[in-house]
Amino acid sequence: MPIKINQIIQFLETFAPSAYQESYDNAGLLVGQADTTLTGALITLDCTEAVVEEAIARQCNLIIAHHPIVFKGLKRFTGSHYVERTVIKAIQNQVAIYATHTNLDNVIYGVSHHIADRLSLKNIKILAPKKHLLMKLTTFCQPADTAAVLEALYAAGAGHIGNYANCSFRLTGTGTFLPNEAAEPQVGEKGQLTETKEERVEVIFPARLEGKVMQALHEAHPYDEVAYYLHRLENTYQQVGSGVIGTLAQAMDANDFLVYLKDRMELPCIRHTALVKPTVQKVALCGGAGFFLLPKAIQQQADVYITADVKYHDFFEAQDKIILADIGHYESEVFTKDLIASILSQKFTNIAIRLSNINTNPVNYLM
Ligand SMILES: [Zn+2]
Repeated sequence: MPIKINQIIQFLETFAPSAYQESYDNAGLLVGQADTTLTGALITLDCTEAVVEEAIARQCNLIIAHHPIVFKGLKRFTGSHYVERTVIKAIQNQVAIYATHTNLDNVIYGVSHHIADRLSLKNIKILAPKKHLLMKLTTFCQPADTAAVLEALYAAGAGHIGNYANCSFRLTGTGTFLPNEAAEPQVGEKGQLTETKEERVEVIFPARLEGKVMQALHEAHPYDEVAYYLHRLENTYQQVGSGVIGTLAQAMDANDFLVYLKDRMELPCIRHTALVKPTVQKVALCGGAGFFLLPKAIQQQADVYITADVKYHDFFEAQDKIILADIGHYESEVFTKDLIASILSQKFTNIAIRLSNINTNPVNYLM
């Protein structure tokens, strides 16, 4: 069975839904048509002209990148800028470009968790979980129908809390209604005030699934007029947000930890503040430009915060509270290629998934 590019994208987005990208981002299919049959997928951190050439040479008509090559509006395609040249080359050679960017950063098993795994951290949690991404549905059923309604809601993605599935709550009470002549009541008679025993059923779900959950409710619920409330919750969603925090199995001497970090992440160098903690056990980190999370890392009493793109004056913000380590943007995220490949290999076994061999890091070091 030939696989379409769209199937690859849909599967990646079950893992990293596009709804979780930041408002400034431009993740998604950037070049190419989703209904094209896939010849092979080339995974890269950045999509450059050289990567498009590599895709052509390796018979891949889809490039999956972490960073979107098109980030702001393009107004002309004359080839005067590397972004234009990359897009032109991809279109001319029928190579599609898809980016999974801040949506892959923001999911629990995304970019930062993958770094935490390389450092063998335990008890990994999101450092800054996001708010307002969860909703609650309350509905009312005849007790005999509750199980079927819940089953449908679970199948649509409702009822997940952390490591728990099928989460719901219900109370028994009395419902009242007066059906008019046009109604088709499941219980009671038209024109008669009815009192009936009902169950009030509550489930939580990610707001992005509202359409699916409401469709499941209406399909599974036997009432002609389904009574329900929807609430947007103030809760933080522990599965979605920026950065992660975790612990080392054993505390390490701070200098030894930096050596360990350099080794595990294959770094040419680390820029870091003074070793204000003699030992390191609690580690916060964020792949890419994550300086904005430093206050969160301090607040959660991490011994070290690892990220990239830290400016000179920003290093002062660590004060004597935490060790701030900048490991380089490319170096912090280059293993995202392995992450994307491992996600795809969970579902697709008969397609060519290649990791780009090109080092796209624009930053060089003279050691
Ligand atoms: Zn990045």
